[in-house]
Amino acid sequence: MKKPHVLIVEDEGDISEILAYALSREGFEIHVCTDGTAGLSEARRHMPDLVLLDLMLPGLDGTEICRRLKSDDATKAMAVIMVSAKGEESDIVLGLGLGADDYIVKPFSPKELVARVKAVLRRVSGEGEMTHDSGKKIVLGDLVIDPSRHRVTVGDAEVPLTATEFRILHFLAAKPGRVFSRDQILTGALGPHSMALDRSIDVHIRSIRSKLGEHRSLVETVRGVGYRFTEQLPAT
Ligand code: CA
Repeated sequence: MKKPHVLIVEDEGDISEILAYALSREGFEIHVCTDGTAGLSEARRHMPDLVLLDLMLPGLDGTEICRRLKSDDATKAMAVIMVSAKGEESDIVLGLGLGADDYIVKPFSPKELVARVKAVLRRVSGEGEMTHDSGKKIVLGDLVIDPSRHRVTVGDAEVPLTATEFRILHFLAAKPGRVFSRDQILTGALGPHSMALDRSIDVHIRSIRSKLGEHRSLVETVRGVGYRFTEQLPAT
């Protein structure tokens, strides 16, 4: 099997050394860039399986690199894990909304890092083998959720969900009226190996709602429990 290729974009030498050492010990092929602009062009040129992306970088910052990778058809499937310092929560929220697959906060243990990288790679490569309901198109009024094309539309307009947001929305909508805890959504929509945190579900749901616009109320909060997709057709 081909070694997974990981690109590390990190300007702090001691951190990139820890990252590179921990991952190369696991058999990953590693490249390191210390500058944002170089990191973006390296990602485009060499198409790594995963990018570990520091947020504060000289040249181009991490969220901007994430935005460019995830909005380009050629690179949008590339997995991205953001590496952030404490206190950069708003950048994490922004990055997840742009399609980053996970994040890790400094300081982290090499063991945690390796586990997260492996979980994201598994999730990304398991894209084709989704749950039993994955083929079913869901239609609710003018809202269409089409898993075969990974696409959500309202009328003629496409709702620009990230891959993770699509999975969460499709997971909920496949069983309208049923309440799911954050934990069940994590496991059911993102896979049993997902290392994402419970509270990142809240971030994704917030972003899904804002992208759904007038259909935002289809995703209901069940206080103290979790979320459900409404059973009611929206009034038109
Ligand atoms: Ca930095």
